[in-house]
Amino acid sequence: LPLTPNGKTPVRVLTIAGTDSGGGAGIQADSRTMAMCGVHACVAVAAVTVQNTLGVSGFHEIPAHIVADQVRTVVTDIGIGAAKTGMLASTAIIEAVAGVCREVGIGRDGDIPLVVDPVAASMHGDPLLHAEALDAVRYTLFPLATVVTPNLDEVRLLTGIEVIDDRTARQAAEALHALGPRWAIVKGGHLRGSANSPDLLFDGETFHEITASRIPTGNDHGGGDTMAAALACALAHGYSVPDAFSFAKEWTRRCLEAAYDLGAGHGPVSPLW
Ligand code: PLP
Repeated sequence: LPLTPNGKTPVRVLTIAGTDSGGGAGIQADSRTMAMCGVHACVAVAAVTVQNTLGVSGFHEIPAHIVADQVRTVVTDIGIGAAKTGMLASTAIIEAVAGVCREVGIGRDGDIPLVVDPVAASMHGDPLLHAEALDAVRYTLFPLATVVTPNLDEVRLLTGIEVIDDRTARQAAEALHALGPRWAIVKGGHLRGSANSPDLLFDGETFHEITASRIPTGNDHGGGDTMAAALACALAHGYSVPDAFSFAKEWTRRCLEAAYDLGAGHGPVSPLW
């Protein structure tokens, strides 16, 4: 992505998500990715997680109106080129975020593209979203999105489709797209037993497939957040969704290659120093 000369105001992107006290995923991964992409990161905290490399042992939700107020106050002063949602935890927060996004022009029908990463659980299976909030993700958040980026577990939770091959990936992309986002991406990164990491993009008419070889690493904490954040940065720079996704995929691949050991559990994907 183009860098901004010193002293000039860079492109700004807003992340609306949860914190990770271990510094691996969530808002920490988002703001690190944005900084490394030459983008100024604005941050609306939706939840605070209690987390290390072994897992998430609890979280505290920020009151929904405070989450919405963070979004409004950033957009009206600083202005943003794209927004990204991650962990939103509850129906109340999702509804408040959707409301303020509509109000300030964030989302598929506004001027500001919105990447929705429907974070539901950590890689250890610890819940990051109340189960009853899945309907709010489907029917309130997805219809607003420029692009949605679920992993295969989130695809199964949201559509009931178990992606095991290209045919089921296409079915899932169609089911996700039917919920209302302009683009649906089915990320193949977690496809078990595959040497490749195929991703499928669907805009309701055409399937775009991007395949990259799998990076073998136990340190992939925050990989999904990093990918969605890099995608938002590229959209803020005016890239099309397929071009932004290609950029984000290559970015994440390099971060995975540079991932490092941390604590006793899964280390984080590395920022590209
Ligand atoms: N914690 C927060 C706040 C997150 O947003 C996410 C992922 O999106 C995670 C944890 C889980 O990351 P991972 O799936 O890499 O464990």
